[in-house]
Amino acid sequence: MHSYVFPGNLDKEIAEIGSQPIPYMRTDWFSKINLESESILLDLIHCNGGRAIIYTGSGTGAMSAVVENYVSTKRKAIAINGGSFGKRWVSICEYYGVPVIDFKVPFAKDIDYAELERVMEAEHPDVFLCQHHETSSGQLFNLEKISEICRRHDVSLIVDVVSSFLAEELDMDRLGIDICVTSTQKGLNIPPGLSIVFLSRKLEGYEYAHRGYYWDFENNLSNLKRGQTPFSPATIIYLQLNARLKQLRGQGGEALNISQVRHRAEVFRAECRRYGWAMPAEIPSCAITAIQTRDTAERHIFNCLIERYQTYIMPGSVTGFYRISHMGLQSDEELRVLAERIHSIEAEINE
Ligand SMILES: *Cc1c(COP(=O)(O)O)cnc(C)c1O
Repeated sequence: MHSYVFPGNLDKEIAEIGSQPIPYMRTDWFSKINLESESILLDLIHCNGGRAIIYTGSGTGAMSAVVENYVSTKRKAIAINGGSFGKRWVSICEYYGVPVIDFKVPFAKDIDYAELERVMEAEHPDVFLCQHHETSSGQLFNLEKISEICRRHDVSLIVDVVSSFLAEELDMDRLGIDICVTSTQKGLNIPPGLSIVFLSRKLEGYEYAHRGYYWDFENNLSNLKRGQTPFSPATIIYLQLNARLKQLRGQGGEALNISQVRHRAEVFRAECRRYGWAMPAEIPSCAITAIQTRDTAERHIFNCLIERYQTYIMPGSVTGFYRISHMGLQSDEELRVLAERIHSIEAEINE
């Protein structure tokens, strides 16, 4: 099987942990592992003196947790809605009755930052929600500009970095971000099942709300002090997370991983230009390459890749639109073969 989805092809050491006996987790040994994972995570995202809650649950769970515990203590939110993940911030706020400005951004386009500034001036929100990378289109937003705007208006900044963590440079402290969320199946490239909420040091002592029993920050933070979780953790994935984080620490941090992701994106994009596929994202993230092929039937290329080559890519919102993740293990040769296969299926359709 070849996987260009989330996660992608797994590292062997990580995959093997999945077939080992499951240890009991209410032990000092497991506590130590968790505290070590927390510490490495905070280093990788540059959140000095902050906390990282590791939940059993997908990335959307962590987004929901942020709204339940933090956003709901605020007066008014603004959310950047540039695709399905931005829309999710809006939906979660609405679900919990938090007033939210739905700042729509056209699909695969960058934010109109001057317009954003005008809306901020007129509406005075006190909390800002966005994605670093809107995974539905491949568009990367400019956190430098967003951070400046939030600083100027004294607005608390929350960023969903689920699909940019370890794929794009990211420094929470320098950007003044209060909260980030990510999950395990994207940049970390380990199985899905865990999500992480990063709380900056500035939030120490913050009086969080209590609107979600499972995701309650206070309860999770007090258990985390001793390296434990309030409820049964997905033990094996916590161990895979720890092993992956130690690999990253052994590489001296996130830089090597980010440059590998970028390299894969560059190799694949050269093929895309060769085969004439448009790449719609105005500022594309290296995490994925989103392409518009000449596929005329819904999911035809997608289905053929699975049937003929056990290869998975991600279909998008319109016919012929596909996304290829660069966060899993993939060689230059494998990427060229993938592009060649997509091209040959496409050529059959248009014969
Ligand atoms: C994948 C993803 C999520 C979380 O999705 P889950 O299916 O809940 O893991 C959230 N935001 C972004 C930008 C994502 O790419």
